[in-house]
Amino acid sequence: MIIIHYSEIGLKGGNRDFFENQLVQNIKVALKGVLDGDFTCRRIFGRFLVDYKKEFSVDEINMVSDKLEKIFGIANFSFVCVIEANFDLIEKEILKSLKNREFNTFRISTRRSDKSFPMDSPEMNTKIGASVVDLYGKKVSLKNPELNCHIELVGKQAYVYYDKIKGMGGMPVGTSGKAMVLISGGFDSPVASWFALKRGIQVEFLHFHSMPYTSQASVDKVKALVKVLEKFGSSSKIYLFPFADIQKEIIMKCPEKLRVVLYRRAMMRIAESLAFKKNCKALVTGEAVGQVASQTLENMRAIGSVVNLPIIRPLVCFDKEDIIEKARFIGTYDISAKPHDDCCTRFIPKHPETKAKLSEVELAEKSIDIDEMVAGTMKDIM
Ligand code: ATP
Ligand code: MG
Repeated sequence: MIIIHYSEIGLKGGNRDFFENQLVQNIKVALKGVLDGDFTCRRIFGRFLVDYKKEFSVDEINMVSDKLEKIFGIANFSFVCVIEANFDLIEKEILKSLKNREFNTFRISTRRSDKSFPMDSPEMNTKIGASVVDLYGKKVSLKNPELNCHIELVGKQAYVYYDKIKGMGGMPVGTSGKAMVLISGGFDSPVASWFALKRGIQVEFLHFHSMPYTSQASVDKVKALVKVLEKFGSSSKIYLFPFADIQKEIIMKCPEKLRVVLYRRAMMRIAESLAFKKNCKALVTGEAVGQVASQTLENMRAIGSVVNLPIIRPLVCFDKEDIIEKARFIGTYDISAKPHDDCCTRFIPKHPETKAKLSEVELAEKSIDIDEMVAGTMKDIM
Protein backbone atom coordinates (compact mmCIF):
# COMPACT_ATOMS: atom_id res chain seq x y z
CA MET A 1 0.00 0.00 0.00
CA ILE A 2 0.95 3.62 -0.18
CA ILE A 3 0.21 5.92 2.70
CA ILE A 4 -0.21 9.56 1.76
CA HIS A 5 -0.11 12.42 4.23
CA TYR A 6 -1.49 15.71 3.08
CA SER A 7 -0.51 19.23 3.87
CA GLU A 8 -2.57 22.32 4.58
CA ILE A 9 -5.97 20.80 3.88
CA GLY A 10 -5.81 19.23 7.32
CA LEU A 11 -6.55 22.73 8.57
CA LYS A 12 -9.58 23.49 6.46
CA GLY A 13 -12.28 22.87 9.05
CA GLY A 14 -15.78 22.53 7.66
CA ASN A 15 -14.61 22.47 4.04
CA ARG A 16 -12.24 19.63 4.65
CA ASP A 17 -14.31 17.08 2.73
CA PHE A 18 -14.24 19.24 -0.36
CA PHE A 19 -10.43 19.52 -0.28
CA GLU A 20 -9.94 15.85 0.48
CA ASN A 21 -12.28 14.67 -2.27
CA GLN A 22 -10.50 16.82 -4.83
CA LEU A 23 -7.13 15.45 -3.73
CA VAL A 24 -8.34 11.84 -3.95
CA GLN A 25 -9.67 12.59 -7.40
CA ASN A 26 -6.33 14.10 -8.49
CA ILE A 27 -4.41 11.11 -7.12
CA LYS A 28 -6.69 8.64 -8.90
CA VAL A 29 -6.32 10.43 -12.22
CA ALA A 30 -2.53 10.54 -11.89
CA LEU A 31 -2.15 6.87 -10.93
CA LYS A 32 -4.58 5.47 -13.47
CA GLY A 33 -1.99 5.51 -16.23
CA VAL A 34 0.68 3.65 -14.26
CA LEU A 35 -1.30 1.08 -12.25
CA ASP A 36 -3.84 -0.02 -14.89
CA GLY A 37 -6.74 0.90 -12.64
CA ASP A 38 -6.04 -2.00 -10.31
CA PHE A 39 -6.08 0.06 -7.13
CA THR A 40 -8.32 1.91 -4.70
CA CYS A 41 -7.65 5.17 -2.93
CA ARG A 42 -9.52 5.89 0.28
CA ARG A 43 -9.35 8.20 3.24
CA ILE A 44 -8.68 6.87 6.68
CA PHE A 45 -7.94 8.81 9.88
CA GLY A 46 -6.71 11.95 8.16
CA ARG A 47 -4.55 10.26 5.53
CA PHE A 48 -5.07 8.43 2.25
CA LEU A 49 -4.33 4.83 1.52
CA VAL A 50 -3.68 3.57 -1.96
CA ASP A 51 -4.35 -0.13 -1.95
CA TYR A 52 -2.78 -1.95 -4.86
CA LYS A 53 -4.09 -5.38 -5.68
CA LYS A 54 -0.61 -6.71 -6.52
CA GLU A 55 2.90 -6.27 -5.19
CA PHE A 56 4.63 -3.13 -6.48
CA SER A 57 7.46 -3.78 -8.91
CA VAL A 58 10.54 -1.54 -8.72
CA ASP A 59 9.46 0.14 -11.97
CA GLU A 60 6.01 0.78 -10.58
CA ILE A 61 7.45 2.26 -7.40
CA ASN A 62 9.51 4.66 -9.49
CA MET A 63 6.63 5.60 -11.78
CA VAL A 64 4.17 6.04 -8.93
CA SER A 65 6.68 8.15 -6.98
CA ASP A 66 7.26 10.33 -10.01
CA LYS A 67 3.51 10.98 -10.27
CA LEU A 68 2.82 11.54 -6.56
CA GLU A 69 5.79 13.89 -6.17
CA LYS A 70 4.04 16.31 -8.53
CA ILE A 71 0.58 16.35 -6.98
CA PHE A 72 -0.09 19.53 -5.04
CA GLY A 73 -1.59 18.99 -1.60
CA ILE A 74 0.59 16.00 -0.66
CA ALA A 75 3.00 16.56 2.23
CA ASN A 76 4.72 13.17 1.96
CA PHE A 77 4.07 9.56 1.05
CA SER A 78 5.54 6.15 1.74
CA PHE A 79 5.31 2.62 0.48
CA VAL A 80 4.11 0.64 3.47
CA CYS A 81 3.76 -2.86 4.76
CA VAL A 82 0.33 -3.44 6.28
CA ILE A 83 -0.10 -5.92 9.11
CA GLU A 84 -2.53 -6.70 11.86
CA ALA A 85 -2.17 -4.34 14.85
CA ASN A 86 -0.65 -6.88 17.16
CA PHE A 87 2.60 -6.19 19.00
CA ASP A 88 4.25 -9.54 18.30
CA LEU A 89 3.42 -9.42 14.59
CA ILE A 90 4.65 -5.86 14.26
CA GLU A 91 7.90 -6.61 16.00
CA LYS A 92 8.45 -9.75 13.94
CA GLU A 93 7.85 -7.89 10.69
CA ILE A 94 10.27 -5.10 11.62
CA LEU A 95 13.03 -7.45 12.71
CA LYS A 96 12.62 -9.41 9.49
CA SER A 97 12.66 -6.39 7.22
CA LEU A 98 15.70 -4.84 8.92
CA LYS A 99 17.78 -7.92 8.24
CA ASN A 100 18.82 -6.80 4.78
CA ARG A 101 19.00 -3.06 5.40
CA GLU A 102 22.27 -1.23 5.87
CA PHE A 103 22.33 1.28 8.70
CA ASN A 104 24.23 2.05 11.87
CA THR A 105 21.82 4.22 13.81
CA PHE A 106 18.05 4.08 13.92
CA ARG A 107 14.93 5.09 15.74
CA ILE A 108 11.41 3.70 16.01
CA SER A 109 8.67 6.33 15.62
CA THR A 110 5.21 5.13 16.57
CA ARG A 111 2.01 7.11 16.03
CA ARG A 112 -1.15 5.81 17.57
CA SER A 113 -4.22 7.28 15.89
CA ASP A 114 -6.42 4.76 17.58
CA LYS A 115 -5.99 4.86 21.33
CA SER A 116 -7.62 1.45 21.78
CA PHE A 117 -4.28 -0.22 21.01
CA PRO A 118 -3.11 -1.50 24.41
CA MET A 119 0.41 -0.08 24.30
CA ASP A 120 1.22 3.63 24.04
CA SER A 121 3.71 5.04 21.53
CA PRO A 122 6.77 5.49 23.85
CA GLU A 123 6.35 1.94 25.09
CA MET A 124 6.24 0.56 21.54
CA ASN A 125 9.33 2.58 20.62
CA THR A 126 11.37 1.33 23.58
CA LYS A 127 10.36 -2.29 23.31
CA ILE A 128 10.93 -2.71 19.59
CA GLY A 129 14.02 -0.49 19.75
CA ALA A 130 15.51 -2.75 22.43
CA SER A 131 14.88 -5.85 20.28
CA VAL A 132 16.66 -4.25 17.30
CA VAL A 133 19.65 -3.38 19.54
CA ASP A 134 19.75 -6.91 20.96
CA LEU A 135 19.44 -8.71 17.65
CA TYR A 136 21.53 -6.53 15.31
CA GLY A 137 23.75 -4.53 17.67
CA LYS A 138 22.68 -1.19 16.14
CA LYS A 139 22.61 2.13 17.99
CA VAL A 140 19.59 4.27 18.73
CA SER A 141 19.78 7.89 17.60
CA LEU A 142 16.65 9.91 18.23
CA LYS A 143 17.94 13.16 16.73
CA ASN A 144 19.68 12.05 13.57
CA PRO A 145 19.00 8.40 12.75
CA GLU A 146 20.19 6.85 9.50
CA LEU A 147 17.02 4.81 9.46
CA ASN A 148 13.69 5.92 10.82
CA CYS A 149 11.19 3.12 11.22
CA HIS A 150 7.64 4.45 11.31
CA ILE A 151 4.77 2.50 12.81
CA GLU A 152 1.29 3.93 12.44
CA LEU A 153 -1.49 2.28 14.36
CA VAL A 154 -4.76 2.95 12.60
CA GLY A 155 -7.80 0.95 13.66
CA LYS A 156 -7.11 -2.76 13.50
CA GLN A 157 -4.06 -2.32 11.33
CA ALA A 158 -0.46 -1.26 11.65
CA TYR A 159 1.45 0.42 8.83
CA VAL A 160 5.19 -0.02 8.88
CA TYR A 161 7.44 2.03 6.61
CA TYR A 162 10.91 3.54 6.43
CA ASP A 163 11.27 6.24 3.83
CA LYS A 164 9.03 9.28 3.68
CA ILE A 165 9.14 10.73 0.21
CA LYS A 166 8.60 14.46 0.25
CA GLY A 167 5.59 15.78 -1.64
CA MET A 168 5.12 19.15 -3.28
CA GLY A 169 2.91 20.71 -0.57
CA GLY A 170 0.41 23.37 -1.60
CA MET A 171 -3.30 22.88 -2.24
CA PRO A 172 -5.05 20.30 -4.45
CA VAL A 173 -5.49 21.69 -7.96
CA GLY A 174 -9.13 22.56 -8.51
CA THR A 175 -9.94 23.63 -4.96
CA SER A 176 -9.38 27.33 -5.64
CA GLY A 177 -11.39 27.75 -8.83
CA LYS A 178 -10.05 28.43 -12.29
CA ALA A 179 -7.94 31.17 -13.84
CA MET A 180 -6.75 32.09 -17.34
CA VAL A 181 -2.97 32.27 -17.75
CA LEU A 182 -1.52 34.59 -20.37
CA ILE A 183 1.29 32.35 -21.52
CA SER A 184 4.15 33.35 -23.81
CA GLY A 185 7.00 31.07 -24.79
CA GLY A 186 9.29 32.73 -22.24
CA PHE A 187 10.57 31.65 -18.83
CA ASP A 188 8.20 33.53 -16.60
CA SER A 189 4.61 32.69 -17.47
CA PRO A 190 5.07 28.88 -17.15
CA VAL A 191 6.61 29.38 -13.71
CA ALA A 192 3.76 31.72 -12.78
CA SER A 193 1.31 29.01 -13.91
CA TRP A 194 3.04 26.50 -11.65
CA PHE A 195 2.66 28.78 -8.63
CA ALA A 196 -1.03 29.29 -9.39
CA LEU A 197 -1.49 25.50 -9.59
CA LYS A 198 0.37 25.16 -6.29
CA ARG A 199 -2.35 27.21 -4.57
CA GLY A 200 -5.04 24.96 -5.97
CA ILE A 201 -5.98 27.15 -8.93
CA GLN A 202 -6.85 25.21 -12.08
CA VAL A 203 -5.53 27.03 -15.15
CA GLU A 204 -6.30 27.30 -18.83
CA PHE A 205 -3.93 29.03 -21.22
CA LEU A 206 -4.22 31.90 -23.67
CA HIS A 207 -1.42 32.61 -26.11
CA PHE A 208 -1.16 35.50 -28.57
CA HIS A 209 0.77 34.91 -31.77
CA SER A 210 1.47 37.09 -34.77
CA MET A 211 1.48 34.52 -37.51
CA PRO A 212 2.23 34.86 -40.39
CA TYR A 213 4.63 37.63 -39.31
CA THR A 214 6.15 35.36 -36.70
CA SER A 215 6.86 31.64 -37.02
CA GLN A 216 5.00 28.70 -35.54
CA ALA A 217 7.78 28.43 -32.92
CA SER A 218 6.04 30.29 -30.08
CA VAL A 219 2.90 28.19 -30.51
CA ASP A 220 4.90 24.96 -30.48
CA LYS A 221 6.78 26.11 -27.38
CA VAL A 222 3.56 26.91 -25.56
CA LYS A 223 2.19 23.46 -26.41
CA ALA A 224 5.36 21.82 -25.08
CA LEU A 225 5.31 23.98 -21.93
CA VAL A 226 1.71 23.05 -21.19
CA LYS A 227 2.62 19.35 -21.53
CA VAL A 228 5.07 19.83 -18.66
CA LEU A 229 2.53 21.74 -16.55
CA GLU A 230 -0.04 18.99 -17.11
CA LYS A 231 2.16 16.72 -14.99
CA PHE A 232 1.39 19.08 -12.11
CA GLY A 233 -2.32 18.84 -12.75
CA SER A 234 -2.95 21.72 -15.12
CA SER A 235 -5.59 21.43 -17.81
CA SER A 236 -4.39 20.98 -21.37
CA LYS A 237 -6.64 23.69 -22.78
CA ILE A 238 -4.77 26.27 -24.85
CA TYR A 239 -6.53 29.11 -26.64
CA LEU A 240 -4.58 30.61 -29.53
CA PHE A 241 -5.28 34.17 -30.52
CA PRO A 242 -4.10 35.75 -33.80
CA PHE A 243 -2.83 39.12 -32.62
CA ALA A 244 -1.30 40.51 -35.82
CA ASP A 245 -4.27 42.65 -36.92
CA ILE A 246 -4.55 44.43 -33.59
CA GLN A 247 -0.80 44.97 -33.57
CA LYS A 248 -0.88 46.44 -37.06
CA GLU A 249 -3.54 48.93 -36.00
CA ILE A 250 -1.53 49.94 -32.96
CA ILE A 251 1.68 50.25 -34.99
CA MET A 252 0.00 52.38 -37.66
CA LYS A 253 -2.08 54.67 -35.49
CA CYS A 254 -0.49 55.06 -32.08
CA PRO A 255 2.71 56.64 -30.70
CA GLU A 256 5.61 54.22 -31.05
CA LYS A 257 6.77 54.43 -27.45
CA LEU A 258 3.37 53.30 -26.15
CA ARG A 259 3.20 50.18 -28.30
CA VAL A 260 4.06 47.60 -25.69
CA VAL A 261 1.64 49.01 -23.13
CA LEU A 262 -1.09 49.16 -25.76
CA TYR A 263 -0.44 45.56 -26.86
CA ARG A 264 -0.68 44.45 -23.26
CA ARG A 265 -3.89 46.38 -22.63
CA ALA A 266 -5.43 44.74 -25.69
CA MET A 267 -4.26 41.33 -24.45
CA MET A 268 -5.80 41.96 -21.04
CA ARG A 269 -9.15 42.90 -22.50
CA ILE A 270 -9.22 39.82 -24.71
CA ALA A 271 -8.09 37.60 -21.83
CA GLU A 272 -10.84 38.97 -19.59
CA SER A 273 -13.56 38.42 -22.21
CA LEU A 274 -12.41 34.86 -22.68
CA ALA A 275 -12.09 34.33 -18.93
CA PHE A 276 -15.72 35.35 -18.42
CA LYS A 277 -16.83 32.90 -21.10
CA LYS A 278 -14.81 30.06 -19.61
CA ASN A 279 -15.78 30.69 -16.01
CA CYS A 280 -12.30 31.80 -14.94
CA LYS A 281 -12.17 33.97 -11.84
CA ALA A 282 -8.80 35.65 -12.40
CA LEU A 283 -6.00 36.27 -14.90
CA VAL A 284 -2.43 35.10 -14.29
CA THR A 285 0.70 36.66 -15.80
CA GLY A 286 4.45 36.18 -15.42
CA GLU A 287 5.18 39.85 -14.79
CA ALA A 288 7.88 40.84 -12.31
CA VAL A 289 8.56 44.41 -11.22
CA GLY A 290 11.48 45.96 -13.07
CA GLN A 291 12.31 42.94 -15.20
CA VAL A 292 11.74 44.64 -18.55
CA ALA A 293 10.69 48.12 -19.65
CA SER A 294 7.01 47.24 -19.71
CA GLN A 295 7.02 46.01 -16.13
CA THR A 296 7.28 49.17 -14.04
CA LEU A 297 4.62 49.93 -11.46
CA GLU A 298 3.29 52.75 -13.68
CA ASN A 299 2.97 50.43 -16.66
CA MET A 300 1.44 47.66 -14.61
CA ARG A 301 -1.19 50.10 -13.49
CA ALA A 302 -1.84 51.27 -17.06
CA ILE A 303 -2.05 47.65 -18.23
CA GLY A 304 -4.12 46.34 -15.34
CA SER A 305 -6.63 49.17 -15.31
CA VAL A 306 -8.54 47.86 -18.35
CA VAL A 307 -9.87 44.78 -16.57
CA ASN A 308 -11.96 44.12 -13.50
CA LEU A 309 -10.90 40.55 -12.82
CA PRO A 310 -8.06 40.19 -10.34
CA ILE A 311 -4.66 39.83 -12.02
CA ILE A 312 -2.50 37.32 -10.20
CA ARG A 313 1.22 37.90 -10.67
CA PRO A 314 2.90 35.15 -8.66
CA LEU A 315 6.42 36.29 -9.66
CA VAL A 316 5.93 39.98 -9.06
CA CYS A 317 8.79 40.27 -6.54
CA PHE A 318 10.99 37.42 -7.77
CA ASP A 319 14.53 37.92 -9.11
CA LYS A 320 15.14 36.55 -12.59
CA GLU A 321 17.71 34.13 -11.18
CA ASP A 322 15.17 32.61 -8.81
CA ILE A 323 12.64 32.28 -11.62
CA ILE A 324 15.21 30.50 -13.78
CA GLU A 325 16.06 28.14 -10.94
CA LYS A 326 12.39 27.35 -10.48
CA ALA A 327 11.98 26.80 -14.23
CA ARG A 328 14.77 24.19 -14.07
CA PHE A 329 13.08 22.50 -11.14
CA ILE A 330 9.68 22.42 -12.85
CA GLY A 331 11.19 21.22 -16.13
CA THR A 332 10.20 24.14 -18.36
CA TYR A 333 13.68 25.69 -18.61
CA ASP A 334 14.93 23.85 -21.70
CA ILE A 335 11.74 24.55 -23.63
CA SER A 336 11.64 28.23 -22.71
CA ALA A 337 15.34 28.60 -23.57
CA LYS A 338 14.76 27.75 -27.23
CA PRO A 339 14.61 30.81 -29.49
CA HIS A 340 11.31 32.15 -30.80
CA ASP A 341 10.11 35.49 -32.10
CA ASP A 342 7.46 36.66 -29.70
CA CYS A 343 4.59 38.71 -31.05
CA CYS A 344 5.74 41.62 -28.92
CA THR A 345 9.51 41.50 -29.32
CA ARG A 346 9.05 41.48 -33.08
CA PHE A 347 7.56 44.95 -33.25
CA ILE A 348 9.14 46.48 -30.23
CA PRO A 349 9.92 50.23 -30.20
CA LYS A 350 13.51 51.45 -29.75
CA HIS A 351 12.60 53.52 -26.71
CA PRO A 352 9.57 52.00 -25.00
CA GLU A 353 7.68 54.06 -22.45
CA THR A 354 8.63 53.01 -18.92
CA LYS A 355 6.17 55.28 -17.12
CA ALA A 356 3.02 55.26 -19.17
CA LYS A 357 0.46 57.87 -18.12
CA LEU A 358 -3.05 56.56 -18.11
CA SER A 359 -4.41 59.69 -19.81
CA GLU A 360 -1.91 59.42 -22.69
CA VAL A 361 -2.59 55.75 -23.17
CA GLU A 362 -6.33 56.27 -23.19
CA LEU A 363 -5.98 59.10 -25.70
CA ALA A 364 -3.88 56.91 -27.99
CA GLU A 365 -6.49 54.18 -27.88
CA LYS A 366 -9.20 56.56 -29.09
CA SER A 367 -7.80 56.33 -32.62
CA ILE A 368 -8.16 52.56 -32.84
CA ASP A 369 -11.52 51.88 -31.25
CA ILE A 370 -10.07 49.08 -29.22
CA ASP A 371 -13.29 47.77 -27.67
CA GLU A 372 -14.81 47.12 -31.05
CA MET A 373 -11.66 45.40 -32.26
CA VAL A 374 -11.60 43.13 -29.23
CA ALA A 375 -15.29 42.29 -29.54
CA GLY A 376 -14.87 41.54 -33.24
CA THR A 377 -11.96 39.17 -32.67
CA MET A 378 -13.37 36.91 -29.96
CA LYS A 379 -14.61 34.51 -32.63
CA ASP A 380 -11.00 34.04 -33.80
CA ILE A 381 -9.91 32.32 -30.61
CA MET A 382 -9.28 28.65 -31.23
P1 ATP B 1 7.60 35.65 -20.16
O1 ATP B 1 8.91 35.06 -19.79
O2 ATP B 1 6.45 34.99 -19.49
O3 ATP B 1 7.45 35.78 -21.65
P2 ATP B 1 8.62 38.28 -20.04
O4 ATP B 1 9.61 38.51 -18.99
O5 ATP B 1 9.10 38.04 -21.42
O6 ATP B 1 7.63 37.11 -19.58
P3 ATP B 1 6.81 40.22 -21.08
O7 ATP B 1 7.17 39.77 -22.44
O8 ATP B 1 6.81 41.66 -20.75
O9 ATP B 1 7.69 39.53 -19.96
O10 ATP B 1 5.39 39.63 -20.73
C1 ATP B 1 4.80 39.84 -19.48
C2 ATP B 1 3.67 38.85 -19.35
O11 ATP B 1 2.67 39.12 -20.35
C3 ATP B 1 4.09 37.41 -19.60
O12 ATP B 1 4.62 36.82 -18.46
C4 ATP B 1 2.78 36.80 -20.02
O13 ATP B 1 1.97 36.52 -18.89
C5 ATP B 1 2.15 37.92 -20.83
N1 ATP B 1 2.50 37.74 -22.25
C6 ATP B 1 3.52 38.30 -22.94
N2 ATP B 1 3.51 37.90 -24.23
C7 ATP B 1 2.45 37.08 -24.37
C8 ATP B 1 1.91 36.33 -25.47
N3 ATP B 1 2.44 36.35 -26.66
N4 ATP B 1 0.80 35.60 -25.22
C9 ATP B 1 0.23 35.55 -24.00
N5 ATP B 1 0.70 36.22 -22.94
C10 ATP B 1 1.81 36.98 -23.12
MG1 MG C 1 7.85 37.43 -23.02
